[in-house]
Amino acid sequence: MTEMVTWTCTGCALLCEDIQVRVDNNRIEQVEHACLKGKARIFGCKHVAVPAVNGAGVSIDDAINEAARILKGAKNPLLYGWSNSTSEAQMAGIELARTLGGVLDSTSSFCQGITINEIIKGTIPSCTLEEVREQADVMIFWGANPMSSHPRHLSRYSYFPRGELRQRGYEEDRTAISIDVWQSRTAKICKDKFYRIPPGGDAEFMRGLMDGLSGRVPKLSFDFDVKRILELAAVLKKAEFGVIFAGLGLVYSMKEDFGLLSEFMDTLNRFSNYSLIPMAGHFNMRGFNQNLYDETGYIYRVKFVDGKAASGVEFSVVEQIKHGADAVLVVGSDPLASLPASISRRLKDIPVILIDPCMNLTSQVADVTIPCSTSGIEVGGTAVRMDGKSMEISPLVQGVNMSDEMVIKRIIEEVG
Ligand code: SF4
Repeated sequence: MTEMVTWTCTGCALLCEDIQVRVDNNRIEQVEHACLKGKARIFGCKHVAVPAVNGAGVSIDDAINEAARILKGAKNPLLYGWSNSTSEAQMAGIELARTLGGVLDSTSSFCQGITINEIIKGTIPSCTLEEVREQADVMIFWGANPMSSHPRHLSRYSYFPRGELRQRGYEEDRTAISIDVWQSRTAKICKDKFYRIPPGGDAEFMRGLMDGLSGRVPKLSFDFDVKRILELAAVLKKAEFGVIFAGLGLVYSMKEDFGLLSEFMDTLNRFSNYSLIPMAGHFNMRGFNQNLYDETGYIYRVKFVDGKAASGVEFSVVEQIKHGADAVLVVGSDPLASLPASISRRLKDIPVILIDPCMNLTSQVADVTIPCSTSGIEVGGTAVRMDGKSMEISPLVQGVNMSDEMVIKRIIEEVG
C-alpha cells in the first residue's frame, strides 16, 4: 500500500512538521521538503546495531539482562545521552535513574543546557519561532551557523519568509546580523552585517555593544572599528522585535561569564523587545531539560539519593566519567566521538551499555549493545522544539526493534 504522509522531521531541533514522505509497504520511497540533514536522518544508519555482550552476538533478552545486572551492581551508575529520544523515553530514563540511585545527565551538559536553564527559569526572555516568522525585524546569529546546523531555519522562520508584520520580506523588512569568529554561510547571507570577533572575544564585544547602547564609547582590547559597534548598537535600538539565536560559539565563549548575557538582554530590552532562542542541536535536547526540570527542579547533572534529586557540576557527564561513574548507560549518543579524548578514553575502563539504533564510535567500547528503533522514524512520541514548543511526532514505518523507552522499562523491571 502506498501513502503520502505529512511528517515531522527529527533531524534537528527545528522539528520541521511539513515534510512529505511517500511510504510504500513499510518502505520510505520519497521525501519532499526535508533538507539533506533531514533526509540522512530519514534514511537511517549506515551500520545498524545488533544485540551484543562483550562483542559476541546474543538475544535481545540476554543483552537487556546483562545491562540490568551491570547497572544493579554499580554503586554510582551514570545514565547519559537522551537528546535523541522522545520525551516518553526520557521520562523512563528519569525513573530508571531514580530507581538505581544513579546520576542522570544529557548532551545539553556541554551544549545549550546553560542557556535553556536561564530560559526555563525566566532569567532570559524567549519567544516562539512562529513569533519570529511573523514579527521579527532584527535577528542576531551569535556564534551560530544555522545554514549548516539547522538548514531550514532561515527559510522557514527567521529571515526569508514574509511575516504578518514583515510583508516586504528580508529585502526590506528584516535585518540579519552575524557575530562570529569566522565567516560562515550564515554570515555570508548577513553581508555587511557580519561582525568578525576573535575567538573568546564574545563577552568583550558584548560589553562594547552595551556601552554603545548606553551612549558610551566602547573600548576593546582587540582591534575592531568602534564606529561599526556604534552603528550596530543603533540598529539594535531601532528594532521593533529582535531575537538572538544563541549558538554554541557564544555558549562556549561565555561559559565563565554567563550572567553577562542576561545583563545584555536587559540592556537591549530597555530600548526594544528582545528574546533569545538557543540553537539546540539534537531534536529533543530541550525536551530532556524541560522534563527533568518538571520532575526535579533541575535541568541536568542530577544525582538521585533515596528518590530525591540533587544537582551540581560534580554530576556532569564529564566529571562523572573522569572520576565517579562505575558503569555508564548511553542512550542515543556517541560520547566517544563528542567528548574530549582525554575524558572519553576513560570509557574503556568502565562497563558501558549502549542503547542505539546505529553502530557508532562508542559501540567499539560498549560491553553491552542493545539496538532500539529510531525515534521519529520507527517510533513516535513527544518532543520539544528549540523554542520550547511541544510537538507530537508520528512514526513513518514499523521497525524490528523495541523503542528505547521499552528497553529502559524492561531494565527497570529487571533492577526494580
Ligand atoms: S532543518 Fe532540521 S528538522 Fe528541518 S528538515 Fe532539516 S534536519 Fe529536519
